[in-house]
Amino acid sequence: MKTNKCVICHYAEIGTKGKNRRFFEDQLVKNIQNKLSDAKVLKMRNRVVVSPKSEEIAVAALKKMCGIVYFSPAVVTASLIEEIEGEVVSLMKKRSPRTFRITVKRSDKSFPLSSDKIAASLGEAVLKNTKSQVDLHQAEVNCYVEITKEETYIYFEKIKGAGGLPVGTSGKVLSLLSGGIDSPVASFRLMKRGSKNVFVHFHAYPDTSAASMEKTREIVRILSSFQGESIIYMVPFAQIQKEIMLGSRESLRVIFYRRFMMRIGEEIARREKAQALVTGESLGQVASQTIENMRATSEVVDVPVFRPLLGYDKEEIISEAKAIGTYETSIRPEEDCCVRFLPRYPETKANLSLVKKEEKNFAVEEMVTTAIENCKVERFT
Ligand code: ATP
Ligand code: MG
Repeated sequence: MKTNKCVICHYAEIGTKGKNRRFFEDQLVKNIQNKLSDAKVLKMRNRVVVSPKSEEIAVAALKKMCGIVYFSPAVVTASLIEEIEGEVVSLMKKRSPRTFRITVKRSDKSFPLSSDKIAASLGEAVLKNTKSQVDLHQAEVNCYVEITKEETYIYFEKIKGAGGLPVGTSGKVLSLLSGGIDSPVASFRLMKRGSKNVFVHFHAYPDTSAASMEKTREIVRILSSFQGESIIYMVPFAQIQKEIMLGSRESLRVIFYRRFMMRIGEEIARREKAQALVTGESLGQVASQTIENMRATSEVVDVPVFRPLLGYDKEEIISEAKAIGTYETSIRPEEDCCVRFLPRYPETKANLSLVKKEEKNFAVEEMVTTAIENCKVERFT
C-alpha cells in the first residue's frame, strides 16, 4: 500500500465568520502557499490540507502561521474502513506504546458507522495485532482518525500554530518599531488579529552608529516569519531632534519627539494605505506613557493610534517577546535615537495648550517633509 503524507491545519475562529468564512479561508490558503511555494495547499471542509516537499520545513513555517490553531503531520488513506484499519494497525505497530486510545472524528456523516463504533473497531484491531493496551484517559499515544468524504487522515500529534486570524484579513497598519522589547510585541498582536504590518523606524544615524537600524532590521526579519514579506521605512530623525533640543523646554522634548513621529507616521500610512498607527506603549510604564502624554501625542494625527500593549505588564510583554523570538535581539544594548538628549525631569502630565504654543517655534510641515524625503525603504522576506 502506497502511503501518502500531508499536514492538516485546523483553524478555530475563522470557522465562525459566517458569510466571510470563505474570505478568511482563501487568505489562509494564500498565506500558506506563499510561504511554502512548492507545497500543494488545498482547502477542504474545515481544514487546510498541505502536501509539502519537506515536512520539516512545513512544520517550522506552520508554527508561525497566523490563523492556524493547530496542525498535524498525517498519513492519508481512502475513506474505507479496511484501509483505515490497515494503516492504523501498521502505524501503531511501529510506535508500540504501552497504552493508546483512538479518537475518531467523522465529518462524512454518510459513513456507515458512528465515530464511537469506528474507534472501538479500530481499537480492537490494534489490540489483536499489537501488545498495546487501551487507556482512554491517560494514553501514552493518542491516535486521531479524521474521516471525510474524500479521504481519511491519521495522526498522533497536535502542534500549535500562531492562532488568531490570517494576516491580510484585517487590513493594514503602520507599526512604529523602535528596536526595544515592546514595539515588536505590539506588531505581533496586530498580525495575529489579521493585520498586515508595514514598519517605520526613526534613527539618529550618522550622529549615532547604525546599530539601532541593524537591530530593527533583524526584528523585522523575525516578524516577517509571521506575516510574510515586510517593508520598513528608515527615517532620519537626528535633525528633528536637534531642532527640538534647541527650540523647546527640556521637559517636553519626548512629547515633541513623539508628535513628530506620529505626523511622519501618518504621512507614511497615507502612502502605504495603512489604516492605523501602532505603538508599543503600555499605560504608566515610563513618563511618556501617561494618559495625558499619550493624548498629547496622538492628537496631532487623524488616523487611529493603536496601543495593543496598553494593559500589559512588562513581565507579560517580556514573556511574549521571548515566545515570538524577538527578545534576545531587543535587549542588545544599542543607542536608540530616543535616549538622545533625554530630559532629566520629563513631563508626565503634558499641558496641551503649552505644548501647542511651544510647537509654534518649529517649521513643523517642513521638518516632516524633509524627513520623509530622506527616508529609505527596505524589503524583507
Ligand atoms: P519599546 O520597547 O518598543 O522601545 P519603550 O517602552 O522603550 O518601547 P518608548 O521609548 O516610550 O517606549 O516608545 C514608545 C513607543 O514609541 C514604542 O513602543 C514605539 O512604538 C515608538 N517608538 C519609540 N522610539 C521609536 C523609534 N526610534 N522608531 C520607531 N518607533 C519608536
Ligand atoms: Mg524604547
